[in-house]
Amino acid sequence: MRFTYYEDFLALVFPKTCCVCKRSLFEFENHLCKICVSQLPITSYHLRPEDNDLKVKIDGLTKAGRLFSFLRFTKRGMSQKILHQLKYKHKPELGNVLGRMYGQVLYEYYAGQWDTVVPVPLHPVKFKRRGYNQSERYAQGLAEVLQVPVSTALNRMKFTETQTNKSRWQRWENVDRVFDIANGASFLGKRILLVDDVMTTGATLAACANTLLNAEALSVDIAVIAAGRM
Ligand SMILES: [Zn+2]
Repeated sequence: MRFTYYEDFLALVFPKTCCVCKRSLFEFENHLCKICVSQLPITSYHLRPEDNDLKVKIDGLTKAGRLFSFLRFTKRGMSQKILHQLKYKHKPELGNVLGRMYGQVLYEYYAGQWDTVVPVPLHPVKFKRRGYNQSERYAQGLAEVLQVPVSTALNRMKFTETQTNKSRWQRWENVDRVFDIANGASFLGKRILLVDDVMTTGATLAACANTLLNAEALSVDIAVIAAGRM
């Protein structure tokens, strides 16, 4: 409770600001101002989810079907600022906001095509440090609009070292067999939307997709917040 009072106090002294441009927000705005929302670098992946550069990147690693990304990632661009706020500035709700925004796009084209939304899990150590899984927050926003449940039954088993300075193959070896399904959970026959914050090499997402497909999921599609050259 004390924390809530403290937050209220902060909000009085320091009004909430847009996480991109730092302008003070109106009551009806949530983490992003209307101007920044109108300028988001939204992709058109939802128009060609089976034939795009993300799909090309992940082909050969997994049989995941369709690939979606809400934003195009550019260094020092809006999407990088947003991801930084989401991951390192304790803004879990921003993940829900982004999920609801992209959920509206996906709902328009793909309503009823998924049974559940599954976030890529964080390692427990990272989860403890951050206090939340940003991908799970994105999953919640998407699921809310798509009107399906979120499943957190995909687990991460062991800590993976940092992925930088590793070859593509080493990265793949590093994440393969890292994920498993919680005891008693079933993805049998399910059409899954697997989600993460970013897609870089695609190795982590592919490993997750394969774990779900091995658990006899009917199909796995992938949606991230941002993708592009990292
Ligand atoms: Zn703004």
